[in-house]
Amino acid sequence: MQFGDFYYPLPANEPVLQYAPGSKEKAALKAALKQLKSEKIEVPMYIGADEVHTANKSTMHPPHQHKHVLGTYSEGDAGHVKKAINAALKAKDKWANLSWENRANIFLKAADLLATKYRFQMVAATMHGQSKNAYQAEIDSACELIDFLRFNVHFLSEIYRQQPISVAGIQNRVEYRPLEGFVLAVSPFNFTAIGGNLPTSAAMCGNVVVWKPAHTQVYSAQLFMRILKEAGLPNGVINLIYVDGPVLGEECFNHPDFAGVHFTGSTGVFNHMWKTIGENMSKYKSYPRIVGETGGKDFVLIHKSANPDVVVAALLRGAFEYQGQKCSAASRAYLPSNIATEIKKKMVAELKEMKMGSVEDFTNFVNAVIDEKSFDKIERYIKNARKRDSGAKVIAGGKCDKTEGYFIEPTVIETTDPYYVTMCEEIFGPVLTIYVYDENKFDDILKIVDNTSPYALTGAIIAQDRYAVELATNKLRNSAGNFYINDKPTGAVVGQQPFGGARASGTNDKAGSILNLYRWLSARTVKEVLTPVTDYRYPFLQEK
Ligand code: NAD
Repeated sequence: MQFGDFYYPLPANEPVLQYAPGSKEKAALKAALKQLKSEKIEVPMYIGADEVHTANKSTMHPPHQHKHVLGTYSEGDAGHVKKAINAALKAKDKWANLSWENRANIFLKAADLLATKYRFQMVAATMHGQSKNAYQAEIDSACELIDFLRFNVHFLSEIYRQQPISVAGIQNRVEYRPLEGFVLAVSPFNFTAIGGNLPTSAAMCGNVVVWKPAHTQVYSAQLFMRILKEAGLPNGVINLIYVDGPVLGEECFNHPDFAGVHFTGSTGVFNHMWKTIGENMSKYKSYPRIVGETGGKDFVLIHKSANPDVVVAALLRGAFEYQGQKCSAASRAYLPSNIATEIKKKMVAELKEMKMGSVEDFTNFVNAVIDEKSFDKIERYIKNARKRDSGAKVIAGGKCDKTEGYFIEPTVIETTDPYYVTMCEEIFGPVLTIYVYDENKFDDILKIVDNTSPYALTGAIIAQDRYAVELATNKLRNSAGNFYINDKPTGAVVGQQPFGGARASGTNDKAGSILNLYRWLSARTVKEVLTPVTDYRYPFLQEK
């Protein structure tokens, strides 16, 4: 029963702490890093009211110091997936019928807990577990996650307010029901915030969720789950399990109550999911919602009018922050011949100064890549580029060393072939490939930028010439879902730059925007006639 129309106004973005020398936050974060490093935790799965431990334990390590053990987590199997689905379905009725203000306030409380009591613990967990420096962990696991929670509450309030017109004698209304069944959230390793957003955006709409994070993100994911519990999330609304992808898929995609998947990760995995869901269509009670944000091969196009210093800063941050492991990371750049030499020279000089190492040393800009599999894959691309007849050369970085941690130097490859493999494929590491084009052939390069890769996630134009900016904005309309002018192609902020791409980069349902929430709702229209007709005959049937 509701006795009011409870509306949550537009929030402000969570301020980003700077961790400057001598600041209170720097001291607090260092203490949290030390604390987490001194303990070894045992992480359970969270299924219904139970914290589930199994005999099958996996260890968690900082990617930059893989011999150190942060703790273990319990791996589950098909039986745990079944239990998680059942726990979700059991919680469904009560949760779906809970009043909006009681649902909303759980997520707002979780945001407050993250912003205060757990802020440094969460940032430290993300630093240790995913090898992010302090700033990258702050903008991800604190600010973006807090923003997702607060902004989504506001967006959902906006949706609930959208009502159809009513005319004389008729009252119309739309109810935004949750989906029938359960939603599956499958999240990637690279953003703690995405891990948190995928299950909560659906749950906020009244859905129940089975959440499977990437194995390499369990360390921060479990902390978020504990925060949700402390904020009052009822048992079974979100069930956190750690199982292999195929095991998960087998149980969930064969279940009649499967109502939708909220996925972020690689294109190949998403394509496989889509195909399986398609093949199983006849098994489901409803058409499942399929939402996926996937890979990228993000470009920076530089016009001959660009300021070279703006270019260098955009490329260094865009390509190498978080070791290039952002779906939005700049990974191919097109340099005009008039300023290419200057840009390359400055970039190579800056890279010599860029420090790499552990997250605990705050002077390191670059840390380790996530795991050995990723390290080996990135190293292969670099080795191939070094081969004599590759059509490419490594002009900066390129050293790979996995003795202590999975370290790959920020690497710049230059190619004379705009379709060279590292211009087309997603590498997901600190590797930027550059191609120098004839400064007077801007129209030609626009075509190449558009047709080089199957992805269309982010891209940037750097130019001072306004005609060039307009031309690129128009010609590259479908080449990126997030397009930047005179900026790096990374760093989307909730509420400011709704995020997502098209083509092979996903369904473009824009995480952290109102558009995403519509996917987790199924509207019911209710028409009530206040003075019902009592005679079936229409006036036109009368001749006089
Ligand atoms: P991934 O595809 O390897 O894994 C993503 C999730 O899918 C993980 O939880 C993984 O365990 C699970 N998974 C793997 N195989 C599965 C299967 N067969 N069935 C069900 N689940 C399965 O991706 P990742 O390495 O964790 O993350 C990097 C990728 O994510 C990159 O391609 C990156 O571009 C993409 N990404 C995209 C966005 C975006 O918004 N577009 C954001 C972040 C990351």
